[in-house]
Amino acid sequence: MKVGVIGTGHVGLVTCVALAHLGHRVAGTDSDGEKIALLRRGSSPFYEPGLDDLLSQGLASGGLDFRPSIAETVQGATVVFICVGTPPRADGEANLLAIERSARELARHATGPTVVVEKSTVPVGTGVRLRAILRQERPDLEFALVSNPEFLREGRAIQDTLEPDRILVGAETTEAFDAMRRLYEPLTRRAIPLIETDLMTAELAKHACNAYLALKISFANAMARICERAGADVVRVAEIMGADPRIGRAFLDAGLGYGGSCFPKDLAAFERLVERLGGDLPLLGEIARINEEAVQATAEKVKEALWNLEDKRVVLLGLAFKPDTDDVRFAPALALARLLLAQGAHVLGYDPKAAANAKAELAELEVCLDPYEAATGADCIVVCTEWDEFRSLDLGRLKDTMAHPLVVDGRNVFDPEAMRRHGFTYYPTGRPPVTPHRTAT
Ligand code: NAD
Repeated sequence: MKVGVIGTGHVGLVTCVALAHLGHRVAGTDSDGEKIALLRRGSSPFYEPGLDDLLSQGLASGGLDFRPSIAETVQGATVVFICVGTPPRADGEANLLAIERSARELARHATGPTVVVEKSTVPVGTGVRLRAILRQERPDLEFALVSNPEFLREGRAIQDTLEPDRILVGAETTEAFDAMRRLYEPLTRRAIPLIETDLMTAELAKHACNAYLALKISFANAMARICERAGADVVRVAEIMGADPRIGRAFLDAGLGYGGSCFPKDLAAFERLVERLGGDLPLLGEIARINEEAVQATAEKVKEALWNLEDKRVVLLGLAFKPDTDDVRFAPALALARLLLAQGAHVLGYDPKAAANAKAELAELEVCLDPYEAATGADCIVVCTEWDEFRSLDLGRLKDTMAHPLVVDGRNVFDPEAMRRHGFTYYPTGRPPVTPHRTAT
């Protein structure tokens, strides 16, 4: 099928390369001309495992192309995906200006009957607005509207797109469902379920999924605070909870909390939406509050251990909001860095992929190219992102290079027993600390 994709960010670009890989003819566009120039040269504007390979394959096969305008992108396309950003406004409401602009432009330039797919995360009811905009802009255009929310995780985006747990399609006409079934046939052929529902239900289900996942993380963090007071171990609590299939182990890792471009903004947008609908769901605000508390609690641990933060060197291991990405949007590491900097600490950071993005976001942060270099002379290390490479750091070397062997583990990546053996003072999250006078059980 001929597919157009508007917005070639984390979701749009992955959609482009994945659909081209599945055999469709895909054209992508973005309002950021530099991104398009980069993509045409075969370079991805961000890091995502496996993306570069699929990008070069798509370009080489001729099935994938990037064009400078929406007009050129929707030409001849039977399905057009809208994948533009939906950032938060000051009050948390989703800013849908890019969605409206894309829809108007698309309507002006569509060359035939078009299935218009909203893939961006949007408040329920956006489809109704889009339908009105498309009609207003182009009364003669034959179109069908689809909500096809994206569930990919950054860092595993290619795998999540080519092997999703489910594909969700909300639509109103047989033609729209037929088109989406054809589009995803290479996946459904492999027994990947395609769930069909109405537009509103699909839009709402995306809010519900993100809110529930964030809830699980905040629940684990609330348990971590209680475990610390009680002297219990939140990692074991999570294992025990997760052994119950009604609960499940995933997303019960206590730590610095969630970040990224989705959960924080989607939760705020959902809260505003519920209010607009005349409802009341204080749970959503509580999830966000507990998430902020996770960063504050970690900052307090550092302060408690170091006393006065002025003149202290604090090293953050991991700056990306999660492993395997260079994305630092709403990264807990940067929120923590700001709290520590505000109290006068000298904050350094190391991240395998996200150092440049972190530096661009927070100029006061000193970024290092190597974890041992970062740790040289440090008074404290704080683990902020659970990159795999941190699990295999040489603890002896790390300890020898630090001014004081103190580690605050915001992701519970280290084994408390190994930390004790190496002589660290170690503060994990929601687990008993290891101090020279007290050992973890
Ligand atoms: P992104 O910021 O990485 O990409 C958005 C892209 O849209 C940017 O390249 C931007 O230049 C482009 N854009 C903005 N306005 C445009 C316009 N008028 N015309 C053409 N291009 C335009 O954002 P993202 O992470 O890809 O997210 C996109 C949407 O998908 C959001 O609604 C997000 O909530 C949702 N989503 C994201 C993820 C994720 O993990 N990143 C997962 C699921 C859903």
